[in-house]
Amino acid sequence: MKPLEEQQFNEIKTNLEMVKKRIVQACIKADRDPSSVRLLPVTKTVPAERLRIAYAAGCHEMGENKIQEAREKSEILSDLNIKWAVIGHLQTNKAKYLARFANEFQALDSLKLAEELDKRLQNEGRAIDVYIQINSSGEASKFGLAPEDIRDFVAQLPNYSSLKIKGLMTLAIFSTDHDRVRACFVKMKAIQAMLRQEAPAGMSFDELSMGMSGDYELAIEEGATVVRVGQAIFGKRPLPDSHYWPGVG
Ligand SMILES: *Cc1c(COP(=O)(O)O)cnc(C)c1O
Repeated sequence: MKPLEEQQFNEIKTNLEMVKKRIVQACIKADRDPSSVRLLPVTKTVPAERLRIAYAAGCHEMGENKIQEAREKSEILSDLNIKWAVIGHLQTNKAKYLARFANEFQALDSLKLAEELDKRLQNEGRAIDVYIQINSSGEASKFGLAPEDIRDFVAQLPNYSSLKIKGLMTLAIFSTDHDRVRACFVKMKAIQAMLRQEAPAGMSFDELSMGMSGDYELAIEEGATVVRVGQAIFGKRPLPDSHYWPGVG
């Protein structure tokens, strides 16, 4: 590695180890097994060449919120064995792109999209893990189903053989008030418990994807099984959160 690459490698490795350590500490505090929480590094805005270094530093899964960016990076880095997770809203007409490379989709929010995605995956002869996104904060800027609609949604969701329903995903409210953030996670845990009771055969709701750089420890305390962490690993993004979620920050 060149000196600059080595410096990037060391930075990412150090940050990754720090986040993993904090995950373990949060698990201990919540009396949970650390192996029950999966860290999904979020790589949006990080250039592909830096992701090559991140891969060497131990990031073998990468989460992207925009399909176009994810697609481009997956092509540039196709020589590496990266598992790609698409974690942002997807327009139905882009399902065909996702079907080609993604291992996981965490933002299912409509039946139309489910149908199209299943069809495209069938064409590719693939099946992927899927999470249903819930808008737990009620903010207009966030995608996802309203908590009161999830039950009907799941009941109407046919068992598409290419969509392996694994659980739920959410973004909590962006707030410095921990009680308001925690309330979102608590709500998710309750929805998960309800769905686990009545899940149609073939669907599972064991996974709860919640928690980002600013709130993953809180999310773990409330039952997260997947935390999606970007900035704590890769450094601050050049654009503020309000760029991604209007009205925020
Ligand atoms: C960007 C993003 C994250 C990670 O946010 P950080 O603040 O970088 O940790 C998590 N989930 C989704 C859906 C995102 O778009």
